[in-house]
Amino acid sequence: MDIEDFATRIRAGERRALARAITLIESGRADHRAAARALLDLLADAPGQALRIGLSGTPGVGKSTFVESFGMMLTGQGHKVAVLAVDPSSARSGGSILGDKTRMERLSRNPDAFIRPSPSQSALGGVARRTREAVSLCEAAGFDIVLIETVGVGQSETMVAEMTDLFILLMAPAGGDELQGVKRGIMEMADLILVNKADGDLKPAAERTRSDYAGALRLLRRRPQDPPDFPKAICVSALQEAGLSDAWAEMQALAQWRRETGHFEARRAEQARYWFAEEVRRGLLARLDHDPAMRARMAALGAQVAAGETSVERATAEMLTALGAAP
Ligand code: GDP
Repeated sequence: MDIEDFATRIRAGERRALARAITLIESGRADHRAAARALLDLLADAPGQALRIGLSGTPGVGKSTFVESFGMMLTGQGHKVAVLAVDPSSARSGGSILGDKTRMERLSRNPDAFIRPSPSQSALGGVARRTREAVSLCEAAGFDIVLIETVGVGQSETMVAEMTDLFILLMAPAGGDELQGVKRGIMEMADLILVNKADGDLKPAAERTRSDYAGALRLLRRRPQDPPDFPKAICVSALQEAGLSDAWAEMQALAQWRRETGHFEARRAEQARYWFAEEVRRGLLARLDHDPAMRARMAALGAQVAAGETSVERATAEMLTALGAAP
């Protein structure tokens, strides 16, 4: 494989090269990992820095429909839009939220868009690395907006929030009592809540839901780095393509504010620090799991501890010393 040539083709925006490169970074093979690292190194100085937008919402809320309409609107304005998905359930079901591209029929045929389904890796850590690296590749390929879609479960939202500049929560119209079902932590992450399906019969319910969320957001501690009216809740209809330009205007306004106040770059810097520490931790854990000598030592010490031949503390100290991490 000619990595230089590969990098050139990605820089030229060739979508097939980009897709192959993402397949490469998803691979667990050691030689693929080395090639992926070399490729990312070559592309590290690529100029393009995209606006990274995280999008979360429970299944059925209209994420695919929204990404399709929103993506079409953005490409219509001259943007190049990449869509990546993080779906921790796809490893189990074998499918993926974006696996079925027919759900984004127009966008997937759009030459200014690139859609990549969730990788079917079991460990969230692996998915995190792949997604982060895929973002760099998309930026190198000239995509100026990267949407990272995730389902509203567990840690995947935190992970996506840690690699994006803006975090958007898509909600469905609901009765007032359903508001309590939204986890506080997720509300705290959201920069913008979009109440989708604000059309037809659902319109009044959507407006009520919007005002409920707006009230709930006001009760949360305001982030000092953001303008006083954020986070916000607004109504959209992905299906009827209504409110999408308002949503985009809000996202741009917030990004612009953060850029001007320095919080945009500060957040990126914090994220880089976070992922660096994560990868180091991950690397250490991988050594425990994959290095045969370390595994044997773990097993032997574990047996000694179980047999009462040594204490937990002494065995731990011995193991950590073997790992070069003496306590
Ligand atoms: P996802 O699981 O979050 O990706 O949701 P989908 O995009 O697949 O949408 C789930 C269902 O909601 C589909 O039947 C959509 O047609 C419908 N839907 C999505 N957006 C809207 C909307 O703005 N208004 C209405 N009325 N239905 C919508």
